[in-house]
Amino acid sequence: MYEGIVQDLIDELGRLPGIGPKSAQRIAFHILQTESFDVARLAEILTTVRERVRFCSICGNISEQETCSICRDPRRDPALICVVEEAKDVVAIERTREFRGLYHVLGGAISPIDGIGPDQLRIRQLMQRLADGTVQEVIIATDPNLEGEATATYLSRMLTTLEIRVTRLASGLPVGGDLEYADEVTLGRAFEGRRVVG
Ligand SMILES: [Zn+2]
Repeated sequence: MYEGIVQDLIDELGRLPGIGPKSAQRIAFHILQTESFDVARLAEILTTVRERVRFCSICGNISEQETCSICRDPRRDPALICVVEEAKDVVAIERTREFRGLYHVLGGAISPIDGIGPDQLRIRQLMQRLADGTVQEVIIATDPNLEGEATATYLSRMLTTLEIRVTRLASGLPVGGDLEYADEVTLGRAFEGRRVVG
């Protein structure tokens, strides 16, 4: 334990995901000891990012405008929607360059243990997007773990009532893992080999 403000800094850093006590201490001392480290710039970015970045009103992806750059891009195919859990999954799929449609970010996955049910996710907004008949295929790209599979099953049941092709990414993705950790080639192949569900 350190005194006062130094310990406060370590505590705050330690609250960030993926940063344990040792990493928090190392980062804190880097900030304290490295003169070239621009604290003012980091502080400014932290403040500005909260003010400026919001969620796209159509797909839920992060955006600095009302709608995100993907939803605004006229070259994207509006007949295809890829459903993902988080905005970081959009980035992972974009890296593969396999997909030229639009996205829908759910904001998580169904997880009864964490108290997250379908109502906490952006499923209602998805159904609204599908109502006008533009979309011909929904690709479910939730994570290949328990919560992701539960969400995929729930979605595919909901979507069978509509006349839309519903597909799920092919197996081959590391089971139990996170979509964002799959390498580009594996994720790209999973896209190509997607199969119809329901
Ligand atoms: Zn968007």
